[in-house]
Amino acid sequence: MNIVLLGAGAMGSLFGARLAQAGHAVTLVDIARAHLDAIAAHGLRLDSDAGSAQVPGLAVFEPKDWVGRVQAPGGRAPELLIVFTKTLHTEAALRGVAGAIGPQTQVLSLQNGLGNVEKLAAVVDPARILVGVTTWPADLIGPGHVASHGAGSIRLMQADGRRSAALEQAASALQSAGLNCEIDERVWHAVWEKVAFNAALNTLCTVTGCTVDQLALAEDGPELALEIVQEVVAVARASGFDVAPGPVCDKVLHAIAAHAGHHPSMAQDMQAGRPTEIDSINGAVVARAEALGVAVPATRTLMRLVRLMQARAALPAPG
Ligand code: NAD
Repeated sequence: MNIVLLGAGAMGSLFGARLAQAGHAVTLVDIARAHLDAIAAHGLRLDSDAGSAQVPGLAVFEPKDWVGRVQAPGGRAPELLIVFTKTLHTEAALRGVAGAIGPQTQVLSLQNGLGNVEKLAAVVDPARILVGVTTWPADLIGPGHVASHGAGSIRLMQADGRRSAALEQAASALQSAGLNCEIDERVWHAVWEKVAFNAALNTLCTVTGCTVDQLALAEDGPELALEIVQEVVAVARASGFDVAPGPVCDKVLHAIAAHAGHHPSMAQDMQAGRPTEIDSINGAVVARAEALGVAVPATRTLMRLVRLMQARAALPAPG
């Protein structure tokens, strides 16, 4: 398949590498020039439990150059475009490449948070949007170098709920790359479960500076995390998804017990002075809760604290 990764940071690089290794024609489109240059020069280095591999053959472009290439004689739009920017950049990124999205292009979001389909639908025909959730982890180590340890999976569906040949083709490409992909009509349940998990752990670690395991240093840490999970699950249920709190609470407690030394991505973004995904995680839950009349005091408080920290981090450096 002819596949484009729009946003080739940690996740886009991992997926791009795996898909290229499986023989697909992969293009990485990103705005991070140093990363693209390193891949063009040496291939993409992927560290995994299987060892370290240098993956050759990935085409790399900045958005406007890629659009030019597709629109030039002989160019062709991809069959699958996977969006892996941070959620706050989705719409701008997609608008930047809208001229290279053809009538046959399926557009897939496996990003975290709520509202991803709505953002894609502002630019592409909703009938061509795929949505899913992935548990694969990835970290960008440096330009041209990504690491992913442990196993993961992907669950996806067509956003309009239909089953099409294009959906099957996208799922089978991801499966062929060893990414454990299955089509699942209960994707929205999985999305809400992951939002509940992230709304609790990402924000608590961001605000306190704790690693995930350090949340166990006081009883308040796990208790507050579980309170947030219960609130988010209540909003999911009021939205019509019969998400059970028990399994998410178990995952949160397991992460606190097992993820020693881990700083979630939101905490890493805050630390690096980058904007976080707070608006598509806690922010989106709070907005939905308000519309449905569900009380989410802990989720809201954490959202406000992260937004405040983010605003402070954006201040110009003194002097
Ligand atoms: P990342 O910050 O490593 O990568 C995002 C990339 O998007 C960057 O390389 C950035 O340069 C690029 N980008 C920004 N604006 C762009 C634009 N206009 N055009 C093209 N590229 C642009 O983020 P990530 O960790 O790969 O996460 C991507 C998404 O996947 C997020 O929603 C995240 O929550 C989700 N996710 C991450 C993980 C993980 O382990 N990293 C796991 C599951 C889901």
